[in-house]
Amino acid sequence: MLRWYQRLTSKIIGISLIFFALITISLSWQYFSVKDYLVKSGQKEARLIAEGIIHSINTFVLETETGGQFIKNYVSRLNRQLKGEAEVRLVHGKSLDAEYGADESERPKHRLEQLSLNDGKRRSHENATHFSYIAPIISAKGCNQCHHMPDSDREVPDGYILGLTVVKVPTSVTKDMVGKLFNESVKSIALISFLLLFVGLFTARHIALPLMKMLGTVQKVTHGNLNERVSSAYIDVGGGEALGHDEISLLARNFNTMADQMERSFTRLENWNVELSLEVARQTDKIMEIKDHYQSVVDSTQRVIFTTKKDLTIDSVNAEWNPMAKKLGLFPKRKDLIGRNLLELAGEALSDQYKTICESVLRGEKQDQDGMFKTEFDCNVDGEKKYFGLTISPLKASGKKITGLVFVAFDITQRKQAEERLRVEKDKLDSIMDGMGAAVNIVNQSYKIKYMNRIMENSFGEPLDRPCYQLIAGRDEPCEGCGNTMIGQSSLEVEAVNGRTYLATRSPITDINNQASCIVVYKDITYLKQMEEKLHRLTISDNLTGLFNQRHFHKKLEEEMVRANRQQTSLSLLFADIDKFKIYNDKFGHVEGDACLTIIGKIIKSSIRENVDSGFRYGGEEFTVILPGADKTLAKTIAERIRATFASYRFTPLLNGETVDISKTISIGVASFGGESAGAFIEKADHAMYLGKKGGGNRVTIADATPFKPQSI
Ligand code: GH3
Ligand code: MG
Ligand code: MG
Repeated sequence: MLRWYQRLTSKIIGISLIFFALITISLSWQYFSVKDYLVKSGQKEARLIAEGIIHSINTFVLETETGGQFIKNYVSRLNRQLKGEAEVRLVHGKSLDAEYGADESERPKHRLEQLSLNDGKRRSHENATHFSYIAPIISAKGCNQCHHMPDSDREVPDGYILGLTVVKVPTSVTKDMVGKLFNESVKSIALISFLLLFVGLFTARHIALPLMKMLGTVQKVTHGNLNERVSSAYIDVGGGEALGHDEISLLARNFNTMADQMERSFTRLENWNVELSLEVARQTDKIMEIKDHYQSVVDSTQRVIFTTKKDLTIDSVNAEWNPMAKKLGLFPKRKDLIGRNLLELAGEALSDQYKTICESVLRGEKQDQDGMFKTEFDCNVDGEKKYFGLTISPLKASGKKITGLVFVAFDITQRKQAEERLRVEKDKLDSIMDGMGAAVNIVNQSYKIKYMNRIMENSFGEPLDRPCYQLIAGRDEPCEGCGNTMIGQSSLEVEAVNGRTYLATRSPITDINNQASCIVVYKDITYLKQMEEKLHRLTISDNLTGLFNQRHFHKKLEEEMVRANRQQTSLSLLFADIDKFKIYNDKFGHVEGDACLTIIGKIIKSSIRENVDSGFRYGGEEFTVILPGADKTLAKTIAERIRATFASYRFTPLLNGETVDISKTISIGVASFGGESAGAFIEKADHAMYLGKKGGGNRVTIADATPFKPQSI
């Protein structure tokens, strides 16, 4: 503390001395300036007096034309008035001396006075007692009226030196003033120095010293001595009422409070630091544990995994390297690999290729769906071909910035061999399938086609993975009857989009992935179906007339009756019989009879509604027509059309070698369905026809609404 105080005090005294010196120089300069001014003032005063006198002489003497006595009196009066502040003296030149004579005081006393009498120049000088100013009195216009040259009566010319006016101003006045000035300056310097010293010492004691102390304490606190505080002795320095309340004390107190807070915070921080260190240690243990865990996983993957830096220098490799390297005859030791450039591994031939790939991966360019480059290579190991897979992917720090590459190499020989076996088996299967002469496919549980043989490919030519019902049948949902395809063998007919009909025989199998699938063999049965259709048509048709036969009539009538009952719609039946056909047959022969039957068949076909009504040869020359949805009136109209067309048809059979022009007629009974049995319904129509025949034939007869009852019953 003392040392600080001493240093401070000496600094303040030093500063005070500098100020003192500066002020002294300043005041000295002022003193000499003022002194010089006063001296010049004294000289000026002497000059002014001298010039005033000369002016007075010129003015009064010339104007009043008074003589030298006037001037003497004027000077005497002036000297009295000046009372010792100045002394005026006239010095006679030669002409004045000659004219008026001169006493001792009127003669030049100083060397400079004699010089001025000679050359007419003004001069001044000073000595210890006074300032003197010498002003020559020069002859001007008018002076020659009174004054003559000393040695002749010649008038004095202009510019002639008549005499001098000498004014002496005592220096005592100026000296007094300078003395006073000197005293005042010394007093001022003393006062200012005292004030400076007082202010400096006060500032040192009450402001600078506490601030210095605070600064020292701050420095100590800054350097870690948190228990340092500003002493109370430097806080309560104000004294009296202001004790401890002045700003510096307040600052010191606040600093101490802040230091207290800092110390507490620091203590807390230290505690946290300890806790943090413990936590870091715990987390480090965990990380090491996880690292060991992953290292074990990496080492047991049966894959060689190594990483490189961005410059492709290998910086880590797992334990799988050694067995793999041994197989491949590469660097024997794992440790030999670290620090080597990856491209050395690739060999000269592949070096450029791998360099390009690695640079691309390092740039973050997407290589495949998984974002990595994948390749396979093979090599001979002990005379055996071995296959290896290799992936190259970016190594990312914090999941973003690419810091290197990860290489994973693995033996895929077994997989390759299995693939090869599979390919051979598939070729075999393809040969068998293609040789089956039928389209074959394999579908999964979602009906998606997973395999198709060449015949199917040629027939449908679509890629795999489409549902079979969509590709083959053009449907939006599975075909009817194609239920759970995975259980047992089953068959169904499929109308394919290519216009063919297939018999699809499905057998469950288990595919290569152990998934339940189904093999489907599509046998083309289009021709068979066509033959079957033809046969069916033959079984229900009448050869001669082209109408349906009686067996089909009964089946169709039953169906339509069921439908009419169910849908509550009309249903009518025509029963027709050619009139007196036996005679025609007997007269013109059986062939002509057949021709007549053929014609009525055509007329019936053309008179009824296509795809709605059906015509049948009931037997011999009897025909029936089923009219679904037709009431009696419509049925009668259709029957009448048949009758009239047939009656108007002209037959030209030969009789005894000559053509005969002849027509035939037909009788038609019309019956509407009234809920009766098929037999009764037929009988009703037949009976109406019979009534028509009885009435003369060639007519349409409508049966009664009441069900017909045979007379025999
Ligand atoms: P009705 O006016 O009463 O019907 O007299 P109809 O002669 O037509 O009737 P009927 O039952 O007496 O004779 C039917 C004849 O139809 C007998 C037969 O000669 C002839 N007929 C039956 N089937 C065929 C056939 O397939 N071909 C030919 N050409 N004639 C047939
Ligand atoms: Mg008949
Ligand atoms: Mg008949």
